Amino acid sequence: MSPDLPPEILRAAVAHLAPTVPLLTDLGERFAKGGHDLALVGGPVRDTFLGRTSGDLDFTTSASPEQTEAILADWGDAHWDMGREFGTIGARKGSDTVEVTTYRADAYDGVTRKPVVAFGDNLEDDLVRRDFTVNAMALRLPDLELVDPHGGMLDLAAGRLRTPSTPEVSFSDDPLRMMRAARFVAQLGVVPAPEVLEAMTAAAGTLEIVSAERVRDELVKLLLADDPVAGLRVLVDTGLAEQVLPELPALRLEIDEHHRHKDVYEHSLTVLQQAIDLEGPPLSGPDADPDHPVPAPDLVLRLAALLHDIGKPRTRRFEAGGGVSFHHHDVVGAKLTAKRMKALRFDKDTTKAVARLVELHLRFHGYGEGQWTDSAVRRYVTDAGPLLERLHRLTRADCTTRNQRKATRLRRAYDDLEERIAVLREQEELDKVRPELDGNQIAAVLGIEPGPVLGEAYRYLLQVRLDEGPIGAEAAQERLRQWWAQRS
Ligand code: ATP
Ligand code: MG
Repeated sequence: MSPDLPPEILRAAVAHLAPTVPLLTDLGERFAKGGHDLALVGGPVRDTFLGRTSGDLDFTTSASPEQTEAILADWGDAHWDMGREFGTIGARKGSDTVEVTTYRADAYDGVTRKPVVAFGDNLEDDLVRRDFTVNAMALRLPDLELVDPHGGMLDLAAGRLRTPSTPEVSFSDDPLRMMRAARFVAQLGVVPAPEVLEAMTAAAGTLEIVSAERVRDELVKLLLADDPVAGLRVLVDTGLAEQVLPELPALRLEIDEHHRHKDVYEHSLTVLQQAIDLEGPPLSGPDADPDHPVPAPDLVLRLAALLHDIGKPRTRRFEAGGGVSFHHHDVVGAKLTAKRMKALRFDKDTTKAVARLVELHLRFHGYGEGQWTDSAVRRYVTDAGPLLERLHRLTRADCTTRNQRKATRLRRAYDDLEERIAVLREQEELDKVRPELDGNQIAAVLGIEPGPVLGEAYRYLLQVRLDEGPIGAEAAQERLRQWWAQRS
């Protein structure tokens, strides 16, 4: 183990790793028996030292893909080929999934920048081609010996993002690493070293050679992380956002001479953070709440909060009196949202949902002090459909005024709207309540013809149903007869 490793980090890591140790030892011994090296590498090593749980267990080995496959076939319940040309074999045993990749020593053909896969023959070469020092650490198995040639552990302790080789070379080998840097800022709370930020700023334009799908996947991971705002600031400050989401830096509108309008960029980041604060707990974990309508992290809500005002730059008008207006920025914003998400190859459902929320984000502002009729409230609910709970959160989050009285007024008005929605729902549920016998059955029980008396009996049974809930058809007949006897 590294001599400089703070003991508390080591203790936390050992405790965190404990449940996996039998699996690691077992696999390590199987590879060793075949004369191969095996090491846990990358994300899981990093996450162990952060005390985070990471989903997949990634390994790197000196064994060839064929040799790996034979060992995993013997070890697991199932195994599969993740793309033999990349040298990765996956396997599952019980609830544990592992991915084992043959040592790599990447080369890049200087023209298309596509990585040319070449297998390596040692762990050090495999580590140096990785994106960041915190991801370039390995635990040799079966002894759990830490291999950290690039000082990843100290960088992790310092919250610092550095590249194993020079960042200029690293980012020109694979520009996606710049997106990954922003993602790790959001996910791990690390800060890129100054030379990393400099290299990102210089090379931001080269991101255009990376496929939209790979860029989107990193953007999604960034948005679903604990602190997306920090990651987004890195994207905007380095110029990467110009490639990925140009609508975002465009929100930094130049201040008009009267300083009348707010900084839409800062506003949007605040709305995003406030929307995140209104999400429920995650779906699993110690404080999970399976009934919460918007469990964290919610990609649709987060995207809508970030993008809700992107129609503003295009709709801005300076009014004669000196004011500024952004008429129809909701509709224009919804169109821009759909266009951008399509370019980033988001699926249709996600795109539609986000664009719809952007379109609806201003609807509540007609509510004023509660002047909406019941039918307007119903229309709001119907128009939002399955997005209603997210729309509640987006609208509440979209209030960043420093004027406390105004903020309180808006919050109360929205409380009032939600209360009216609840009342209407209850009423509509009640409207659906029927007595337990219908008109024909009542007529048969009492031996009477349709007419005012039948109406009276019907209303009596409805009252029983409302007062006592469902009591069953037989009991309802009994009560009906009693009522009839008393009445006559
Ligand atoms: P997570 O699984 O939480 O997304 P991770 O760090 O495991 O995080 P992966 O995308 O699963 O990220 O990649 C696994 C490992 O492979 C990384 O830790 C890193 O060492 C290496 N890696 C991944 N992508 C790149 C890349 N573009 N360039 C260099 N190394 C990479
Ligand atoms: Mg991973």
